Amino acid sequence: MTKTGRKAVAGNDRGGNLTVDGDRLWDSLMRMAEIGALPGGGCRRLGLTPEDSAGRALLVRWAEAQGYGIGRDRVGNLFIRRAGTRPELAPVMMGSHLDTVMTGGRFDGVLGVLGGLEVMRSLDEAGIATQRTLELVVWTNEEGARFAPGNTGAFAFSGKYTLEQALAHADLDGTRVGDALQALGEAGDEPVGNRPVDAYFELHVEQGPHLERAGVPVGVVTGTYTVRYFNLTIMGDAAHLAQPLENRRDALVGAAEAILAIRRVGVSHGEDGRSNASWIEVFPNVRGTVAATVRMSCDVRHADPEVTQAMAADLHAAIGDASRRSGVAMQLEPFHRFGPILFDAGLVELLRDTARRRGHAFRDIVTVAGHDAIALAPVLPTAMIFVPSAGGLSHNEREHTDPAACAAGADMLLHAVLARAGHA
Ligand SMILES: [Zn+2]
Repeated sequence: MTKTGRKAVAGNDRGGNLTVDGDRLWDSLMRMAEIGALPGGGCRRLGLTPEDSAGRALLVRWAEAQGYGIGRDRVGNLFIRRAGTRPELAPVMMGSHLDTVMTGGRFDGVLGVLGGLEVMRSLDEAGIATQRTLELVVWTNEEGARFAPGNTGAFAFSGKYTLEQALAHADLDGTRVGDALQALGEAGDEPVGNRPVDAYFELHVEQGPHLERAGVPVGVVTGTYTVRYFNLTIMGDAAHLAQPLENRRDALVGAAEAILAIRRVGVSHGEDGRSNASWIEVFPNVRGTVAATVRMSCDVRHADPEVTQAMAADLHAAIGDASRRSGVAMQLEPFHRFGPILFDAGLVELLRDTARRRGHAFRDIVTVAGHDAIALAPVLPTAMIFVPSAGGLSHNEREHTDPAACAAGADMLLHAVLARAGHA
């Protein structure tokens, strides 16, 4: 692994020579990756599990070593505060998540959190105070891999969920977010959201191939795809395998038809169309019995909201066809949605300026994936910085972003935050 060799330099030109310590950032990323490490090089820190909590504890130790303030709100969002010289001004926030999916990588979410920590450490090392307080946030349950849907902490902060709604979300075993927070000691006593924030910046890996294909190290994220998630329930009838084929109502045969139909919806909407069947539950799921019931998650997504709407209509029609072909009843119900979101025009322009000023080649990009920033954008000025994912791979143990790209992303974050928070 190459080292970047970039060190923080104290600047007397109001931050002009300042940059992050790419080696220190990389070392922190690799230390965090030891928590919940998987044999293939990735991580599993599902939201509100002991591994997730251990990741937060490591971050808190690093933050305390720098003398930063630590706070937690009632939904478990973790705040690390580097005080500014003008506490009456609304803080500038950076953040992302430390939880992962089952087959998580080392960078998704983690880069935004540890990139933010590196921003604070670099300012400390350079002896630079900011006017506005800097807050680094770890949002609770971004991935939704255990408690679906995700972005629990960010949606509670933005007011989309009441605290009671957020705490009542349950995993497949019936454990509620509130119970898990209490068991881990991750619930704090700060109220959730409803306070002034000057701006929110999130650094994240792209999780797709566009930046790498373009050979560009930085993406300025202007907005999001429009995404519609559905729950699909397929209702067959349990039977012994001795039952003749023509007499069966096999929910798994219905699922097979449905999965292929879902894929065709995306394919028929061109390169920018995405359609997914990504989770399935079969009942009773035993070898000797025809499947009675299948539950699935599926979604359609496109950059153009009108196309997403057309894809949703196509999905309904395709599921109707799959139901007729397989002879089992199917029910498609809306589950979750996001987009279209346009990030704050002023912050997006600040990021473009920052890239020019810092000499990072960049391009504008739209995010296909959901992020905490999307949950926050309706209520506060928000923007995102992307860096390339090798091979476009993410939610995979082989997810990789090279050290120089991580450092470039953190350098972008540092200078955008410094511009917004004001050199004291
Ligand atoms: Zn993420």
